[in-house]
Amino acid sequence: MIPLRLKIDAEATQPYVVRLRNFEGVGQPPDQIHPLEAVLETVDGEKSIFSGPTGTLQVFGVDPSELDGDSILVVPSRKIAHRLIRANSRHNTLLVTERCDQLCVMCSQPPKKQHVDMLPFFETAVLLAPWNSTIGLSGGEPTLFKYSLFAFLRRAMARRRDIDFHILTNAQHFDWADLALLGDIDRDRILWGVPVYASDGAVHDQIVGKPGAFDQVKKSLSVLCEAGARIELRTVLMRPNATALLDLARFVTTALPFVETWAIMQLENIGYGRQNWHSLFFDSSMQFEPVGKAVDFALSRGISTKLYNFPLCTVPAHYRAYAPSTISDWKRTYIEDCTQCSLRAECGGFFEWHPKVHGYGRFGAI
Ligand code: SF4
Repeated sequence: MIPLRLKIDAEATQPYVVRLRNFEGVGQPPDQIHPLEAVLETVDGEKSIFSGPTGTLQVFGVDPSELDGDSILVVPSRKIAHRLIRANSRHNTLLVTERCDQLCVMCSQPPKKQHVDMLPFFETAVLLAPWNSTIGLSGGEPTLFKYSLFAFLRRAMARRRDIDFHILTNAQHFDWADLALLGDIDRDRILWGVPVYASDGAVHDQIVGKPGAFDQVKKSLSVLCEAGARIELRTVLMRPNATALLDLARFVTTALPFVETWAIMQLENIGYGRQNWHSLFFDSSMQFEPVGKAVDFALSRGISTKLYNFPLCTVPAHYRAYAPSTISDWKRTYIEDCTQCSLRAECGGFFEWHPKVHGYGRFGAI
C-alpha cells in the first residue's frame, strides 16, 4: 500500500508544509528553488536528507524518487509527516475534519469528537499542488465548518485558477442564505458529492443514523441546484437499499434530474463497513439485477449513471462501460487472477481491505 504517513526527523519544532524536490539524475538543478521547497541533499541507507527553508528534514524508509513534488505536512513533535498532495497521484484528498453529525452504518472513517483546523496548512499545500490538479475535500463533514471552508475555497481558487475541487458532503448544512456564498466561488470548478441512499426517507435516515436527514438533504440539493452547483449523487449499495434501487432511480430521474452524475458504489470493508459487513454487503457479482435495472432506468431518462468501486469481473459485460476505475491508488489492490486478466489496465481492482473469504462470490480473470 502507498504510505500516506512518513517517518521523519525535523530540525524545525513547529508544524509546516513543504514541497519535496529530488534533482538526482537531473544534469543541472534549476537556478531558482521555490521558497517552500526542500531539496534532497543526500541518501544514507533508509534515510533521505532534505534541506529547505525550515532547516534539514530526514525522511525514513521511502525511496526519495517517489516523493519528488509531494507537498507534505511535517509535524516535528510527532516525528511524522503527512503526504497531503502526492504529485504523481490523481487521488489526493484532504480531511477537513473528523467530526460528523451523521453516523452512517457503513462509515469508512467513523467520526471523532475532536477537531483541529488544518485549513491553513491545506491552503499552502493546494498552492504547491501540481498544475491542473483535482483535490478532494472530505471528512467527517467538511460543511460543519462551512464559513472557514468557503473562505479557504475563495482564497485557494483565486490563487490557483487551474485547480478543481471534489467535496464530499452529507448536505445537512446548506440553507437558502448560502446562495451568496455559493455564488462567490467558481461553481464550475467544484463537484459536490452528496449521498442519497433511498427514495424512502425512513430508509435513508436509518442508514445515516439521523432522523430528518432525508428532508434536509433534499433541501440542500435544492439550494445547490439553485446555485448552479455541479452535483455527483452517491449511493452506496447495501442490503438495506439494494432491492429499492429502482425506486431510487425513479426518484433521481423525476426529483433530481439536474445532477451531473449518479454513482452507485460498492461497499468498503473498513470502519463501520467492516463491523456491519454481514448485514450490509450486497454481493452484486451474484445478484446484479437490482443494480442493472436501476442503471438501465436512469440511463434511459438521460441521467449519467456510473458504478464506482466495482471490480469489472463482478459486473456483466454489458455494464462494464459504466464502471470506471475509482478506487484511490493508495487503497487499491489486485489479486493473483488479475495478472492474467485482459481487463487489468482499465479495472480499478479491489479495496486493499476487501475480505478474501466473504466478499464477492464471482470474480476472476477475463
Ligand atoms: S480479475 Fe482483476 S483485473 Fe480482472 S476484472 Fe477482476 S479485479 Fe479486474
